[in-house]
Amino acid sequence: MRWSLKIGRVSGIGLYLHVTLLLLFGLIAYAGFVEMGTRGAAWSLALVAVILTCIMLHELGHSLIAQRLGVQVRSITLLPIGGVAALKSIPEKPWHEIAITLAGPTVNLAIAVALMPFTGLPPHLFLISMPYDIHSFLATVVNANLTLFVFNFIPAFPMDGGRLFRALLALVMSFPRATVIAAMVGQGLAILFVLVGLKFSLWLVVIGVFIFIGAEGEEKIVRTRSLLRDLEVEEVMARDFVVLAPTATVMRGLEMVYHTGQNDFPVMDGDRLLGIASRQDMLDTANRLGRDVPVREAMDTGLPSVPPDARLSQVYETMMVEGYQSLPVVRDGQLIGLLSHDNISRYLLVQSNLKPSRRRRAVLAHTPAPPPATPSVPPIEAPRSPSELSPPASPA
Ligand SMILES: [Zn+2]
Repeated sequence: MRWSLKIGRVSGIGLYLHVTLLLLFGLIAYAGFVEMGTRGAAWSLALVAVILTCIMLHELGHSLIAQRLGVQVRSITLLPIGGVAALKSIPEKPWHEIAITLAGPTVNLAIAVALMPFTGLPPHLFLISMPYDIHSFLATVVNANLTLFVFNFIPAFPMDGGRLFRALLALVMSFPRATVIAAMVGQGLAILFVLVGLKFSLWLVVIGVFIFIGAEGEEKIVRTRSLLRDLEVEEVMARDFVVLAPTATVMRGLEMVYHTGQNDFPVMDGDRLLGIASRQDMLDTANRLGRDVPVREAMDTGLPSVPPDARLSQVYETMMVEGYQSLPVVRDGQLIGLLSHDNISRYLLVQSNLKPSRRRRAVLAHTPAPPPATPSVPPIEAPRSPSELSPPASPA
């Protein structure tokens, strides 16, 4: 995730802190200072640090169980709204998802139970207040962990409860169908939160909006994933695109943006791919260094290339997580295609608007074709496989 600072590594998983959290630290320290001076600022900063550590442990709980079940974990990022563990793939078996999901809140329950002999049950459950000594500090940590435990069982995405609910539904129905139902229930709850919140607490309104958007996002991701599921990169990638010579000026590249409708241009030195110059990078370079600067100064050389037979759903997830706009598709060292978000969304646009009955009718219409009476028509040339196509790139 962009704007994240790496703070460590556990079991091969990178741990990150989103920079907006530093802002939150500042705000909380200020609030503590206003209430109780430097002492207050110190206690509240310590509290935020410990609660964030508990959230990190919660995400590690999910991640370590995921690793046990063969699901790779890319990273864990702490955000002001909580933690996010980025899995490299989605657990397909409902029981795996149930185990991975339960592992997070269990960590919070364990922390609370471990500390409770020292604090007892907090009197005001779910009301986090500013600590002023070690006893109230520990009591608040217990309270926060119990809150995290209970809050995460609300059956709505992006909370763990939403995933759990979906996994339970997926035991008796398909995964996409289970997601649609879980998302609908979550959004119903979100609307209820907003309505109740308008009367009682603004926080509930914020949580409601957050849940509503989260449910929408999860449903979209799953719908996209199920549409991309059995595809290889080759089937969706752009085959016809313009490439730039490293010596072409950034202005030349920017002209090609409107002449071709392309946003990202492979920069090629003969047959060799040097990098990809995006519209934004070329604009930045033109404004900073001038329009006549060669495009090699504007290109990104750090993009990974993907093989044409890579699973599209996995490549798509990598693009989402890493923020890649487009990736070169390379076979045997040759650039044969370009995969961008644009390709994928165009593919989805076509596929999601295609009526399934149409396709079947077309197949039916073609299968019983009678053999021609006289072989006067020359045999139709077999369609060329993509591997026979020469790289469709035309240097500009
Ligand atoms: Zn969780």
